[in-house]
Amino acid sequence: MSEHSEQTTGKLANDGLPPLRDVIATHDLSAQKKFGQNFLFDLNLTGRIARAAAPLEDATVIEIGPGPGGLTRALLFHGAKNLTVIERDPRCQPVLEQISNHYPGALHVIDGDALEVDVTTLGPTPRKIVANLPYNVGTQLLLGWLMQIDQFASLTLMFQKEVAERVVARPKTKAYGRLSVLCQYLCDCDILFDVHRSAFTPPPKVTSAVVQLRPKAERGTDINLDSLAKITQAAFGQRRKMLRASLKTLNVNVGELLAKADITETSRAEELSVADFVRLTQVHDEMAAS
Ligand code: SAM
Repeated sequence: MSEHSEQTTGKLANDGLPPLRDVIATHDLSAQKKFGQNFLFDLNLTGRIARAAAPLEDATVIEIGPGPGGLTRALLFHGAKNLTVIERDPRCQPVLEQISNHYPGALHVIDGDALEVDVTTLGPTPRKIVANLPYNVGTQLLLGWLMQIDQFASLTLMFQKEVAERVVARPKTKAYGRLSVLCQYLCDCDILFDVHRSAFTPPPKVTSAVVQLRPKAERGTDINLDSLAKITQAAFGQRRKMLRASLKTLNVNVGELLAKADITETSRAEELSVADFVRLTQVHDEMAAS
């Protein structure tokens, strides 16, 4: 028996619903690449993800891409009383309905594209997003949530490990980039644990990891997020270039900008700390406003 098999699980096997593998077979839910589907059947793992997002009882919990409902069931089992799931694959709807009937009033199912849903309308704060994200839209979804991060208490997200490493990366590393700066300016970010590819059906090509982002209570300096996004895009868009060249697309005098922000003209994006980018944004916006 593999360490990832359903039989090794403890409590969740007793949630009264059929085993996930039976659910998949009954509803013919073969995983489809176009939906970025890699399903988790390991109830130890789904339970671990749900517990990492605890407490769930008093939160508006939002799950993107429930698929056949492994993580959904774990979230409900671990206390979620107000869980909304958004799933794009219509084949999953009957299964999700079955789970909803099993937990009356606790599960709300949206049949649609998470990229088009304003998740802040789904219930009051505290809001927690928990998801094993589809790899094809995961980063795009995260960037959208970051731009309104004060609306959330936490994001607990499964990504490909490479993306998780970008979230927590430090300056002067290959993984450090725009996503690192935006995430770390706004949130305390941790990789909670890695998940081997064999835990998924079908197994993806690479290892995954669960990341947690918790908005910082105090960010120190408040800056315009759109400006930070624009500046990091310019800087890391041409990461091998010196900043005096890469920032030319900004609508200000770059020499003056870098001097005022006390940043050497010949530095490259990956050498700047998050605090450097914050200062750069502040000076940029002051210059643009004057
Ligand atoms: N949560 C399930 C699990 O852990 O086994 C499935 C995770 S699978 C990696 C990603 C899920 O997201 C799939 O069920 C897929 O159909 C769904 N999905 C893909 N793109 C989506 C989108 N734009 N909006 C909502 N759901 C999406």
